Amino acid sequence: MFELRDYQSETIDNIYSELKQGKRSLVVQQPPRTGKTVIMAEIARRTTAKGNRVLFIVHRIEIVEQVIQTFKQQGVNMDLCKVGMVQTFTRRISKLDKPDLILIDEAHHVLADSYMRIVNNFPDAIKLMFTATPYRMSGQGFEEVADGLIEGKQVSWLIDHKRLSPVDYYAPKSINEKLLKTRKGEFSNKSIDEAIKPKIYGDAVKHYKKIAKGTNAIAYCHSVDSAKKLADEFNQSGIKAVEVDGSTDAQDREQIITDFKNGKIKVLTNVELFTEGLDLPGVDTVIQLRPTQSLSLYLQFAMRSMNYREGKTAKIIDHVGNVERFGLPTQDRHWTLKSKNKRSKKKKTDVVPVTVCSQCFSTFYRIGNECPVCHAELKVNKAEIDVDENAELTKIQERKKARTIRLQKMMKDEVYKNIIGKSPADLKSMAELKAYAKLHNYKDGWVFYQAKQKGLIRIR
Ligand SMILES: [Zn+2]
Repeated sequence: MFELRDYQSETIDNIYSELKQGKRSLVVQQPPRTGKTVIMAEIARRTTAKGNRVLFIVHRIEIVEQVIQTFKQQGVNMDLCKVGMVQTFTRRISKLDKPDLILIDEAHHVLADSYMRIVNNFPDAIKLMFTATPYRMSGQGFEEVADGLIEGKQVSWLIDHKRLSPVDYYAPKSINEKLLKTRKGEFSNKSIDEAIKPKIYGDAVKHYKKIAKGTNAIAYCHSVDSAKKLADEFNQSGIKAVEVDGSTDAQDREQIITDFKNGKIKVLTNVELFTEGLDLPGVDTVIQLRPTQSLSLYLQFAMRSMNYREGKTAKIIDHVGNVERFGLPTQDRHWTLKSKNKRSKKKKTDVVPVTVCSQCFSTFYRIGNECPVCHAELKVNKAEIDVDENAELTKIQERKKARTIRLQKMMKDEVYKNIIGKSPADLKSMAELKAYAKLHNYKDGWVFYQAKQKGLIRIR
């Protein structure tokens, strides 16, 4: 059995406490890389131990076997637990034993018809829907399928408490975003082909060598063709790289993963094979060559390198501007079951604008006029004052500019100078917490929570 981590036990306690209060259908949010499957395994173990049946719906065929292994290790009675793909269950729906509990992985897909058929077929079952991002590109919420939401820890908390590795983010852009076109909410492959500059492959190798040389890296591309080109480029410069996709033979894939773990292969390139749930241990660097509009994909890509190891700093190299669409993966995020209307979705007000250093490409929330990594002087960002034909973009740039000016004013204040480069764990006073929260656009609740943790305030 796995020893549950504190935050995993906390999530499980929260789930049972909501169920005791009569909730029947919960969305459970947990950031990527925090062991959702272990949490589900423990719940399945407790459920089958009482003689109740579990149905676990998986989104991808590749992870069925992996889930079954984890469940067995955790001591789930597999006679009472079925694990399978949504399509398989839908086909056999009349033959399925009635489950008492339905677990759904990657639940941001849950409103698809196939899922709803299963969910609606068993109205008496308790439903637990797990996802890192209870948010869908359509803006449509979960209120019609869930009566409660359990939020996991923030990424910043997980880093401060050594559950995830801290991360350095670099964003040397090699894409002409003006050429990107959206189809069904996501950038079309055709437009990505046009938007990525041919030098992107060379850039990827160059920056890997400069920023992350020697580390195990995984690269995300938009097409198999592009993933192959990238692997070629790495191999030509003497860095062993292999492309992996759905057509790679299962045995070959095993061997490739073993070689990657042993360091014989340094770079794996893929489209989105290693995203939802599929394990790939030992990744220290992520290279993003695929622009996306999906927050879910972005966090799965970016956080793939953040598994904790003592002393490690993960690296993310983003050649396609994803960070500008979603903010850093370490930014606090707050979730709701409610739908977002189109207007508020477009505004994307929850994204905190980042600054990219033109010298070292490190990417951060700007404080003052100096790059916190290479100490180069930050000019007033050209992109922030350029007027673009695209009105929406201009608005974002104006907001960025306003933020820069606001930050420059704030910097005259001693308390802000004191917190440069600090993480929440370093903050010592209420004034510092408040300044930090203001800087990162965190809510008052965050200050209150941190202050309580640090014993700066007492609750009766
Ligand atoms: Zn720099």
